[in-house]
Amino acid sequence: MIDKTQSSVGRPARTVRPTLKLPRLGMALVLLLLPMALLIAAAVYFIRADAARTRELVWNSDRAEVENRLGRPLAAVVQAAKARAEGVLRGLPENLTTDQLITSIQNEECVRNMFLWVPKRGVVFPMVKGATREESRFLARYVTLFEEVLTKNAAPVVTNQVTGKAAPIVWRSWFEGAHLSFIGWRHFADGRIVGLELETVAFLSEFPTIFAASKFSDLVVSMRDDNAYDLFVTGSRPENLAPVGTLSLAPELPHRELVVWRVRPMAGLNLRYYLAIGVTILVFAVLFLGGVLLVSEARRERRASLQKTSFVSNVSHELKTPLTAIRLSAEMLSEGRVRETAARDRYLATIVRECERLTRLVNNILDFGRLEQNRRKFDWQSVRLADAVKEAAESQRARVEEAGFELVVSCVGDQTRLLDRDALSQVVVNLMDNAVKYAASGRYLAVTVSASGCVQVSDKGPGIAPRHRAHIFERFYRCDDSITATAGSGLGLSISRRLIEEMGGTLTFAPRVGGGATFTIQFGETV
Ligand code: ADP
Repeated sequence: MIDKTQSSVGRPARTVRPTLKLPRLGMALVLLLLPMALLIAAAVYFIRADAARTRELVWNSDRAEVENRLGRPLAAVVQAAKARAEGVLRGLPENLTTDQLITSIQNEECVRNMFLWVPKRGVVFPMVKGATREESRFLARYVTLFEEVLTKNAAPVVTNQVTGKAAPIVWRSWFEGAHLSFIGWRHFADGRIVGLELETVAFLSEFPTIFAASKFSDLVVSMRDDNAYDLFVTGSRPENLAPVGTLSLAPELPHRELVVWRVRPMAGLNLRYYLAIGVTILVFAVLFLGGVLLVSEARRERRASLQKTSFVSNVSHELKTPLTAIRLSAEMLSEGRVRETAARDRYLATIVRECERLTRLVNNILDFGRLEQNRRKFDWQSVRLADAVKEAAESQRARVEEAGFELVVSCVGDQTRLLDRDALSQVVVNLMDNAVKYAASGRYLAVTVSASGCVQVSDKGPGIAPRHRAHIFERFYRCDDSITATAGSGLGLSISRRLIEEMGGTLTFAPRVGGGATFTIQFGETV
């Protein structure tokens, strides 16, 4: 009858536990990652732009240095050779003789060849007939100049290369293959033209000295011709390194350029670069970690709120079950429908048992609130462990045995601790309660206190699956939170552990050898 009453207390359909809404979390991650990706792109852009600007600044300073140390000295020696040659040309009289030209070729270092051009007749010196090897080559080299240029521009030409007021000199740079030469001339009043070919050795011989003296610490500079052939280099030319820039040597040396390599980064630049990268990485790491923390915090909060929701529905169910049983039993008794004394006793026993169950639950909930707010007061007293545990266990014997369990209580030793007796009893009862709830299949419950003061509550039930073991002491945690699961609030173990810890002990779980669960309470020093 009673059983019928109890079983008729149907468990209310529990709200199905809502699941974590992953799309929202995904959205949060996207919202976090999107601006981060944009920031990363912006950072890369700015670092690259900064690197380009820095390269330009470095090149500007390198170019100025190369111009000062190489470009100008090279131009100066060419200009000096030309100036000497112009002096020679200017010194020639109108009534010039061939001998004077020959003497100039022989005596002037800056003169390689000379020529005299006469209108309508062309070149009269050197003469093709009887010309030396050098003279024939000279005539052949400048054949177009003599036949076309001088004929067309027979009138004096004033160019920006002209120096001197008395006798304007015209200069032309001339290419024969890759070979560069210079030829300059002046006009006589009667239309004749006297000119000379500059002896390039006069200035080229000075180039190696200039290159050797230029001493760049971080740069290597090469003078190249049109075919990218290195004519002079300041040091060993670096392989596999792109030049940072080039400098034209025109107009003094047309078709020649200075190519510059930076073999060492400018001092301080690397530091600045790595500092920028380091700071950027740090900022992103902090942002990312912050975001991850926020998301995981949100997930934790959500889980906690879901647990609380499920806790409320579990607790109301746990409150309702004994209340219904009490109400039905009390009604049966008050209506006088139970006449047999034995049956009446059973109803009364149900009322008492369910009241105790309610008390335990309410105590647990109240304790939970107090412990959370650190308001739980402890009534400290010297307690003999064996006695306190035995008393708590025996108080549950009737209930446990009625549930079909074999209860073994073995409490030995005279270990004494400074404890709150009620709190210890509450923990032992909680553990026994759990065994009754979750280990009914084993029908065995042992409560022991060893001589060393180790308290254990073991059963032969299904035990606790490894994946739950780390969580069973968390508040609101339930291994099986499905609709069909045994009722529970998920508070028992967390409260029990808090109480034991407040009393200076530890509460741990271990699977029982041979199957089932063993909960162990241990306290430190004796008092
Ligand atoms: P509850 O109010 O759900 O019993 P507890 O904190 O007491 O909360 O227990 C947490 C979970 O641990 C329970 O939901 C149950 O699944 C599991 N558990 C506790 N004791 C045992 C046991 N002796 N055997 C098997 N499972 C247990």
